[in-house]
Amino acid sequence: MIKRYFRFFFAAAIAAAFLSVTGCSDNAETKYSDEKFLMDTFISIEVYGADKEVLEKAVTEAFAEMMRLNNLTDRYPKKGSDAYLNSDVCRINESAGKAPVKVSEDVYKMMEISLDYYNKSHGAFDIAVGPLVDLWGFADDPPHKVPNDEEIKNALKFVNADWIQLDPDNKTVFLTHPGMILDLGAVAKGYAAELAAKKLKEYGIEHALVNAGGNIVVIGYRPNNEKWRIGVEDPRDRESIVGVLSLADEAAVTSGDYQRNFTVDNVVYHHILSPFDGKPARKTISVTVVTKDSGLADILSTTLFVMGPEEGMKLVEKLDGVEAVFVGSDMKIYISSGLKEKFKLKDNDKYQLAS
Ligand code: AMP
Ligand code: MG
Repeated sequence: MIKRYFRFFFAAAIAAAFLSVTGCSDNAETKYSDEKFLMDTFISIEVYGADKEVLEKAVTEAFAEMMRLNNLTDRYPKKGSDAYLNSDVCRINESAGKAPVKVSEDVYKMMEISLDYYNKSHGAFDIAVGPLVDLWGFADDPPHKVPNDEEIKNALKFVNADWIQLDPDNKTVFLTHPGMILDLGAVAKGYAAELAAKKLKEYGIEHALVNAGGNIVVIGYRPNNEKWRIGVEDPRDRESIVGVLSLADEAAVTSGDYQRNFTVDNVVYHHILSPFDGKPARKTISVTVVTKDSGLADILSTTLFVMGPEEGMKLVEKLDGVEAVFVGSDMKIYISSGLKEKFKLKDNDKYQLAS
């Protein structure tokens, strides 16, 4: 587990550096910030206000909230350990094909919205993807296995969110078939970042930035009343950006093929898997979603990545208050209509703007 943390330490540090604030001085408000390694990534929280003690307390509580979510959704603690017994996801998986499991309000909500987007994406987003993630060894250290077609076919039999039953009265979750494995890796971090921001607001904080390894939530404007400037990483040169988002009271979440991958025979295999063919999805290099809710932005970043720019953009344009910028594997950049004001593309000779 420790090794797994170190593997992502450097990637997360780079992501944090680029998806961060740029420019200008702030006014007289006190700034307080802290950073922790949590949910397999670096999480930094930056807050502004009048009272340093309140700021510190708020940040501590926000991290505690993220830790709580991490513990509920972690699917890799040692079997039988306290962490295993306290993880809703472990308990759900343990009971696959056997019995419904009562879960926390938060895991239940995450599952409800995930299943909604399973339907809206016609199966591109599927939280029953666990057997495939494990088959490809993305939880292993190092992630390394290229499975054969037969193995993929067998794993795919259990990747089917239609077989997840939610009971809204009893708040239970049931994976109806043995062999199914729930994986909330595409949603938990964004959901946790949203709850962290909510906690900061409860402390009266009006200007803040939560950066969970590229899952960004901003509260209000910067203290100097300018928008927060968030760089969108160039997925093929992480020391550079493809453009800058100007945001206030919003979330921006990126899914990219560069975030977790391994190479065999010069082919790069990444962690966002198509539930249709069981292989890494290939239409997108990266996609950044901007919307009010970071949990939703996280779900959508993975969903749109699998769908690809053309089909994905149709979904974006149908959804109220959701915007996206894609870097397609055709090396074109696709910007949704509502983002034109908020996203400034950087001059470059690598990518072309899609018409
Ligand atoms: P993200 O980085 O938010 O796009 O999430 C990627 C993670 O979500 C992976 O590491 C898997 O745990 C999980 N995942 C991979 N493919 C899918 C998919 N098609 N639908 C839902 N979750 C997925
Ligand atoms: Mg996601």
